[in-house]
Amino acid sequence: MKKFLIIFFSCLLALSVLTTGAIWLYNRQTKPSSPSTQSPFAYQLTVSLNGEQDTKIEYGEVYREPGATAQLIGGYGALDVPVEIQGEVDSAKIGTYIVTYTAKSTGFTATATRKIHIVDTQLPKITLTVDPYAYTIPGQPYKEEGFRATDNYDGDITDRVTCVEENGVITYTVTDSSGNTFSTKRTIHYFDPGRPNLKLTGSNIHLVAQGDHFVDPWVTAVDKNDGDITNSVYVEGHVDSSVPGRYTLQYIATNSHNCANSITRTVIVLPMDCLIKETEPPQTPTSPTATKAPIAPTKPTETEIPTEPTYPKNCMIPEGGMPYEENGKTIYLTFDDGPSQHTKKLLDVLAVYDVKVSFFVKNSSYMDIITRAAQEGHTVAAHTYTHDYNKIYTSEDAFYKDMSAIRTTIAMYTQNATSLLRFPGGSSNTISMLYNRGIMTRLAKALTEMGYTYFDWNVDSNDAGGAKTPDEVFKNITKGVQNRDASVVLQHDTKEFSVDAVERVIAWALVNGYRFEPLTEDSPTFHHPINN
Ligand code: ZN
Repeated sequence: MKKFLIIFFSCLLALSVLTTGAIWLYNRQTKPSSPSTQSPFAYQLTVSLNGEQDTKIEYGEVYREPGATAQLIGGYGALDVPVEIQGEVDSAKIGTYIVTYTAKSTGFTATATRKIHIVDTQLPKITLTVDPYAYTIPGQPYKEEGFRATDNYDGDITDRVTCVEENGVITYTVTDSSGNTFSTKRTIHYFDPGRPNLKLTGSNIHLVAQGDHFVDPWVTAVDKNDGDITNSVYVEGHVDSSVPGRYTLQYIATNSHNCANSITRTVIVLPMDCLIKETEPPQTPTSPTATKAPIAPTKPTETEIPTEPTYPKNCMIPEGGMPYEENGKTIYLTFDDGPSQHTKKLLDVLAVYDVKVSFFVKNSSYMDIITRAAQEGHTVAAHTYTHDYNKIYTSEDAFYKDMSAIRTTIAMYTQNATSLLRFPGGSSNTISMLYNRGIMTRLAKALTEMGYTYFDWNVDSNDAGGAKTPDEVFKNITKGVQNRDASVVLQHDTKEFSVDAVERVIAWALVNGYRFEPLTEDSPTFHHPINN
């Protein structure tokens, strides 16, 4: 807001206190030649300022012109002369202004000036925003709640504020354009709201039979400030127990300070047809109605009723589900001679239950699928390129050449040149005897020395022998892995019926607490005795 004050001012006030600014003037025509004698015609025209000649006005205050007086003093006394005031004082703008006072009379002119300084000595202000709910977790940076700096002259100068944090106190400082500095402080409110502590009730893996209603065992949630907040827990995720598969539930608890924590549980819905077949109690020769009849003459004695279900021992899941409880036993499912047209189906089933297995592959027209197998965490290992006994077992060189070819192919599809292998026919095969005596003994030794790890197996699904149905494969495997802490199971993913047994094997194994692992160089190898 600019305000110009231009004053033309005439004054005929009585003689007041003389200040500076008096100018002595003489009529040149009557000026005496000698200063020692004062001419009777000498006149003195003086301008006298009212108030200070050099004055400070605070910005924002109104400048009131104090005025000046002028007198012409001569031999006949004093004569008041009007004063003309010229100048501009903008009290809305800091600076120094000069006002000139001029008196004229009968050819004489006298002037005086006044300096007016418009100054800003008022301090700027800083207003802090204080959020009563805000706090800073110890060790975490302070999150600014907000501030604003204003100045009477500069307006909003928030962007000129500097903040310095020291020992939990923030000092905000701002300086206005006139150099006035203001500081204020804020003490950081440190508080640790913590996070709720969640604990699963039951196991982190829960098994449910397809079609059963899943009863969530839930969690407990305790907060150090709020206490038990189990009631505030909510769950993200959903179990569709009509569809077999692996589901993840995330339980989330939030405390009164809006700090959340979560814990997850895996729920595996197992297909009913995988569970029922072997879990139905064996049929008794007596019909149910007959047993209810108290006078049934054919009621069997107790010793005649089998009290133990036949093999397998337990493949039942109680209504509502049950926790998965590890039995400490590991199953390594292995599949030889693929990939084939059935490998995709196998990978799909394994993906549903997140089970990892191992493939010993030979060259085939389905090599693409091993890329997926490797990406999904399965082990892809070598089983020779041709799997042709009368080539690979004729000499060590022939074997190495063939093995090298399949390793190169595997590396091409999986970006990993495997050092894991399985001999066609296993290390105990005798067919190699037809082509080269002692070759298995030499190969097993040499390959091990070269850093390869070869695997045989200790459980045979017999899918390359007598087993011809998924049921037979299932029985051979589940029978084989019982009473073994670790089982390397031989299957062939070239056989569809063998692939079809896998989901049942998984279901049975999970219900009975087994875990599945893919083979690594540290896994048990279960070497067979070498016969050639
Ligand atoms: Zn094979």
